Amino acid sequence: MTASAKKITVIPGDGIGPEVVESALRIISATRVQLDVERHDAGASVFARGIVSGVPKETIESIERTKVVLKGPLATPIGYGNKSANVTLRTLFETFGNIRPVRELPGVRTPFSGRKLDIVVVRENIEDLYAGIEYMQTPGVAESLKLVSREGCEKIVRLAFAFAAAEGRHRVHCATKANILKLTEGLLKHTFESIAPEFPEIEAQHILVDNCAHQLAMRPEQFDVIVTTNMNGDILSDLTSGLTGGLGFAPAANIGSDVAIFEAVHGSAPDIAGKNKANPTALILCAAMMLRHIGEGSAANDLEQAVLVTLESGARMADMQGPGETISTSAFTDAVIANLGNRSKLTRSREYQMMSLAGSTKKVRTVTATARRVVGVDVYLESDLVPSALAKSVTAAVEGLPMKLELIANRGSAVYPDTERNVSLVDHYRCRFVCDGGGDLTDAEILTLLERLGAKHHWMHVEKLQQFDGQDAFTKTQL
Ligand code: NAP
Repeated sequence: MTASAKKITVIPGDGIGPEVVESALRIISATRVQLDVERHDAGASVFARGIVSGVPKETIESIERTKVVLKGPLATPIGYGNKSANVTLRTLFETFGNIRPVRELPGVRTPFSGRKLDIVVVRENIEDLYAGIEYMQTPGVAESLKLVSREGCEKIVRLAFAFAAAEGRHRVHCATKANILKLTEGLLKHTFESIAPEFPEIEAQHILVDNCAHQLAMRPEQFDVIVTTNMNGDILSDLTSGLTGGLGFAPAANIGSDVAIFEAVHGSAPDIAGKNKANPTALILCAAMMLRHIGEGSAANDLEQAVLVTLESGARMADMQGPGETISTSAFTDAVIANLGNRSKLTRSREYQMMSLAGSTKKVRTVTATARRVVGVDVYLESDLVPSALAKSVTAAVEGLPMKLELIANRGSAVYPDTERNVSLVDHYRCRFVCDGGGDLTDAEILTLLERLGAKHHWMHVEKLQQFDGQDAFTKTQL
């Protein structure tokens, strides 16, 4: 190994992981790129050793050194606690962005063949509902917190534009549900709109995520890069993988400020593990993304072109539709190696310019407001009373306090003061109390209210209704 060899960490992973990772490494070696590979474990074998995170210390230390990982899929075995080694890695190295490119590949037949699809979904990878902050608020009502930060939105939007620029792409769509989730999804939309002018050469367009799914099925060729929140991205990126041939062909990169992890979208496919029939294309395309990331763009293009030529020549894996013999993982790998240096007649590789992203910082990111007030409070409580009776009970609790009951909602619908609405009720209410005469509630006043409510009801959650710089920092309830 020469001194100039770039260090990477390789995690072979579980199930078909070792087979497809080996395939990619053999092809990289044949491109003559010098890599200093540190092989380490994560996943099932590590859980079996009793390490509950699924990722041992030596693997973490290797990644801290190399900052680049080529990773096979990791199984999450049932019965070793509820942690996923994938989630451990994403969290430990804060890989905030998930980049999932798909494109039409020769010989891979889909209902969209011939439409030259070439789409990248850039998905926020840490925040949103997938932070997994959940509570049972009552024995019968569950809650999941969707937290979205300005910091998280800025990072993912900048990553999307940087990736588009790096690949010479011309359009970025931001897909949100900002019409309904005005504050969380709306934050991504506003952030996108404020950052887009910094990239005048790239067309920026907002699209509602449901319409985006519809448009992806109807006219997918209009999309180039799509940036979106975590859960939307999870669904949209599986949809785009499906448009172009499925899991065997879908690579991904998890990008953090310091570390990048390249892994196929597919899992460990235990049903075909060890049978030399797994399709290694996704992992090989991950390797191409990794080579671009470490500045080996020319080798990445060689590798990508060799895959395209191999598919063009009719090589078919077991997961590809169509007639004729299928070939093994190792035979496909040999064919790709034999095709290194050949160029596809149909599809060119992009000239990739390396992205420069801001590094991580230990500073707490703050967004300040010059004026702030607490104009009310929402108290969530459990009660089997009907709304009119509940209103009477909670109104008594505000006696002498500078606030009044404004409304009561049940599963998002206001059921008080209008008690005649035909809403099927559950024993979980939100009572909104607002300041009399535009005041600013103190914590002591809120605590008094909670103490009085708690004497009669189970309350389980309280949320201050704040105003920042005169703007309501909460949504109005649908009346
Ligand atoms: P999966 O492993 O992706 O497999 C689903 C099916 O897709 C397989 O049974 C196989 O179908 C086909 N398939 C997937 N990759 C293929 C490939 N490269 N070549 C050919 N066919 C392929 O999904 P899963 O069964 O839901 O998950 C299995 C395990 O993987 C679970 O423990 C899960 O937690 C883990 N997982 C890990 C990751 C990750 O590490 N990033 C991602 C997803 C899932 P056929 O039956 O038609 O052969």
